[in-house]
Amino acid sequence: MKDKVIIITGASSGIGEATAKLLAEKGAKVVLGARREERLKALAEEIRAAGGEAIWQVLDVTRQADNDAIVKLAKETYGRVDVIFLNAGIMPSSPLSALKTDDWHAMVDINIKGVLNGVAAVLPEFVAQKSGHVIATSSVAGLKAYPAAAVYGGTKFFVRDFMEILRMESAMEGTNIRTATIFPAAINTELLHTISEPGTAAGMAALYEQVGITPDRIANVVAFAIEQPADTNVSELTVGPTVQA
Ligand code: NDP
Repeated sequence: MKDKVIIITGASSGIGEATAKLLAEKGAKVVLGARREERLKALAEEIRAAGGEAIWQVLDVTRQADNDAIVKLAKETYGRVDVIFLNAGIMPSSPLSALKTDDWHAMVDINIKGVLNGVAAVLPEFVAQKSGHVIATSSVAGLKAYPAAAVYGGTKFFVRDFMEILRMESAMEGTNIRTATIFPAAINTELLHTISEPGTAAGMAALYEQVGITPDRIANVVAFAIEQPADTNVSELTVGPTVQA
């Protein structure tokens, strides 16, 4: 982990924030991206005050130019990129009959296109240096179907398929790029704030209150994937509360 240059999207709260803190504590140089500038600034200051190394840049993952710019910032500041953690996401779940079509499109734009944009920004670097690690946050909703999660789950099924094919193609092309996809269950973060349909919001809040665990649990797993030897690829990890069925 020491001195690895790691870009984290969705670093302003929840899983991304917890992962940034842990990786920086372990000696990584973290490059923080998300839309909320004040949060990024405060997090970078907190990491530096604890003796870690962090920079940040406002990033909207739906914009290719923003993704390219954060990769450029990492390269200009630290000389290279070793890992990108594609973690930004939203979960405005609802039954299809609620016809929350704006939410559907926002999930496709952020959860799917955001991942594509991040990979497009970093892949040329990883191919050129013949090494790199792409880590993405899918969800248990990317492994099985849940009512009210047709679109959210669809975006997370996409992430799984895309990451597995990235792994296979990288192996076939001999680029030494590692991939890891994380499938969290209920993790207490700000994610539920993105749900706009009252019935779904209430149901999810009750579930999370009952079973949710803290986002540092996911940070531990991201660190585990990174800390394996370069010839070892941890492709998929499902992580959730022991008490969640
Ligand atoms: P949070 O809401 O706490 O974090 C989401 C992060 O994504 C924030 O930093 C947010 O920052 C960022 N984000 C959202 N939209 C954009 C955008 N357009 N551009 C850049 N950043 C964006 O929730 P979590 O930490 O829980 O979510 C992280 C990931 O984990 C998501 O992909 C989520 O789907 C996944 N996940 C979470 C689970 C859970 O139970 N919490 C379970 C399964 C998966 P900002 O608003 O500042 O841009």
